[in-house]
Parts: sequence; C-alpha cells; structure tokens
Amino acid sequence: MAAGFLLVLSGPSGSGKGTVSQQLMKENKEIVFSTSVTTRTPRPNEVDGDNYFFASIEEFEDMVENDDLLEYAFVHTNYYGTPKKFVFDEIEKGEIVLLEIDVQGALQIKEKYKEAVFIFLLPPTMSELKNRLIKRDTENEEEINTRYKNAFKEIDFVGEYDYFVVNKEVSQAVKDIENIIAAERLRVKRYKNIKEELKLEEGED
Ligand code: 5GP
Repeated sequence: MAAGFLLVLSGPSGSGKGTVSQQLMKENKEIVFSTSVTTRTPRPNEVDGDNYFFASIEEFEDMVENDDLLEYAFVHTNYYGTPKKFVFDEIEKGEIVLLEIDVQGALQIKEKYKEAVFIFLLPPTMSELKNRLIKRDTENEEEINTRYKNAFKEIDFVGEYDYFVVNKEVSQAVKDIENIIAAERLRVKRYKNIKEELKLEEGED
C-alpha cells in the first residue's frame, strides 16, 4: 500500500477552504483533518478540539518551545500551528492528512517534507472574495479589511504550490481536489516496490 501523505490546502480568507475541506472529508473518509492550535478567540459556533484547539499565548509558546508543532505562523493577528504527533501517527497508518494552513506554514512544510502535496484555493474574483468575507459576518470591518488586504499578498505565493483550484462551485472544487488526490496516489515514488506490491512477478496471473 502507498504511504499516506500530507495534503496542504491554502488560500486567502474567504476562498472557502473550510467549506471545501469539510465537503471533501464528508465524501472521502480516508482523509483526516489536522486540527490546528490557535490563540484566536473562538467564533460563536466553534468547538474546542474540533475546529481548533484554542490556547493562550503562553500555552502556544510552550508548544513551540517543546517542539510540538510541525509548523506555526502569525496569521492576521493571531498564532496558528499544526500539532506534530497527530500528523505523523496518521501518515504512518497510510492516511491522507489535510492541513488547512496559510502560506507561511505551507512554505515551512515544503522545506521539510518534499512528498507533501500543495494545493492553493482561489476565489473566482477578488470582489467575490470580499463579498464572502462580508456575508459570513464573522469578523468586524477592520478585520475584514486586514484579511482582504492579506489576500493579495497570499495569492502572490501561488507559484510555490503544485496545483490551484478555483472555488466557484464547492462541488466542482471538491471534484478537482479528488482528481489531484487520485493522480498523487498513482505516483510511482509513493511505493517502495511497485512490482512486488502489485504482484507483477513471473508466473502469477
Ligand atoms: P481563521 O482565523 O479564519 O480560522 O484562519 C485564518 C488563517 O489561518 C487561514 O488562512 C488558515 O488557513 C490559517 N491557519 C489555520 N490553521 C493554521 C495552522 O495550523 N498553521 C498555519 N500556518 N496557518 C493556519
């Protein structure tokens, strides 16, 4: 069996990463979500341990100090990071681990894990991105403006990624990601000995 791998999904705030990844995981049970740690305040519908592990700045700094994080970054106005142990345990089991992280985190992963797959989610237009940020009503006006401004900076990094997916329709974006995963699973380099694993030895049908 091919080894599991890291699937890194980035995209500016409002590109629809959350919605797309939830739908993707609903339809593909072998994809597991890496829950990040953040110092951000929970939104009204968010559950600790589900959307994020919510931590104080001191707790977050302890995790950094103890080398518990695979990557971490200061995004918009808060810290976010990926707990290391969960990711390694799941990859060992052959799972695909989905990291929904920003560009800075993705670049750190790229340095360390060459076998990870990097996908950048784009909005159909920048005005649609702004509409989505306003419509979801989870940030105040100042935060919306910060996220919108940061979106332009983040999109500049799309060239660092392996694939881009335009999120015009969630169902199509999910299909595009499923196709990327299907192709990545067939990468010869993901198998130790493909002849042996497919039983392509002489005398066997
Ligand atoms: P939000 O506050 O909207 O949930 O997330 C803000 C940004 O932080 C998003 O771009 C999201 O992808 C990013 N983010 C979430 N978790 C992590 C993480 O563990 N590491 C990094 N580097 N970014 C993260």
